[in-house]
Amino acid sequence: MSRTAGGTRTTRFDTIIAGGRVLDPASKLDATADVGIADGKIAAVAPGLNPADAARVVDGRGQVVTPGLIDLHTHVYWGATYYGVEPDPVAARTGVTTWLDVGSAGAYGFPGFRRFIIEPSRATVYAMLNLSAIGLIARSWEFVNLRYCDAEVAEKIVDAHRDVILGIKARIDQSTTEGVGIRPLEMARALADRVGLPLMVHIASGPPTIEEVLALLRPGDILTHCSTGGTQRLVTPSGTVREEVKQLHDRGLILDVGHGTGSFSYEVAEAMLNQGLLPDVISSDIHQLSIQGPMFDLPTTLSKFLNLGMSLPDVIERATVRPARAMRKPELGTLRPGGRADVAMFRLEQGAYAFYDVAMTRRNGSTRLVNTLTMVGGEPLARTAERPVHVWATLPEHQQRILQR
Ligand SMILES: [Zn+2]
Repeated sequence: MSRTAGGTRTTRFDTIIAGGRVLDPASKLDATADVGIADGKIAAVAPGLNPADAARVVDGRGQVVTPGLIDLHTHVYWGATYYGVEPDPVAARTGVTTWLDVGSAGAYGFPGFRRFIIEPSRATVYAMLNLSAIGLIARSWEFVNLRYCDAEVAEKIVDAHRDVILGIKARIDQSTTEGVGIRPLEMARALADRVGLPLMVHIASGPPTIEEVLALLRPGDILTHCSTGGTQRLVTPSGTVREEVKQLHDRGLILDVGHGTGSFSYEVAEAMLNQGLLPDVISSDIHQLSIQGPMFDLPTTLSKFLNLGMSLPDVIERATVRPARAMRKPELGTLRPGGRADVAMFRLEQGAYAFYDVAMTRRNGSTRLVNTLTMVGGEPLARTAERPVHVWATLPEHQQRILQR
């Protein structure tokens, strides 16, 4: 192979991915080129690299080569929470090389999340810490008992894990806050300010109202489920994007899709796109339920936006460099030489496809992204079997009816 017994590389590159359409929005690159990888890092991106200089050549012709995808809204605390799926088996078939788990773990569960998920995973896992110390061990109600909102212990956990905790997460809807109103968001706001990290807020159906939520958001915060069809939706009853959303977005509020099982409405997504408001980040909200469809995975979610008329570079930008910026990790989500060789490759398939939002509203599409290779640190992730979903992970009946026929 390419190394001597002593481990020294005998070729310039370990791997060349040759002849693909290399799409790296962070570098404003969209061209046919080769990607040379050495010692786990991107060594060169250029046309005409010499195959003789590599131990292994991957044929990228006819495919799209991108930075490994970053999924800004995921739940990967398998076995200890209601929602968690195992990240590596999904990474290997979707091109996602960086997972931001948002709020699966609160303070009490965080040491376990670090020990059992972050450390052994081959893909990179970061977290936003749930203000609620119990996190998402159950389906909802994490703020209903305000005693779980222990900002003091949360701050201690953030300080002990600043290398992997990138923000604070709060789900603010009628079931998470039943009986306590907007108080948890006020506490999450104060905690995020104290630790100097962004706040990610989930919306769905109130109370609280969307006005109460927006009043507590700041530039650099992330509003997830931005295309929700729930009563906290970002468009007015007549379908116009709310004025205060436009203003906050202009000032730097990040709008994230977070498709999930209950949070993506074609009606709202199309209204926003028609008014020129593109989501800043396209994420999956992958979990025990949404992985069964109609969300399925991040490439499927990206494909929905392609078929809504967004360009491939615009879509890939929103799953690479934009989430990297939102996470304040500019070294991620790019193929710039010197960075870690997290790379994904996709076929852009043409055909007749049906896509659904969470209400099972159907849109027909003609194109879809299919992952063919996922590399972490220059090594392909092997496709492995995924565990079955948990006994409680039953899709809503209206989704089951269409998906399982
Ligand atoms: Zn979520």
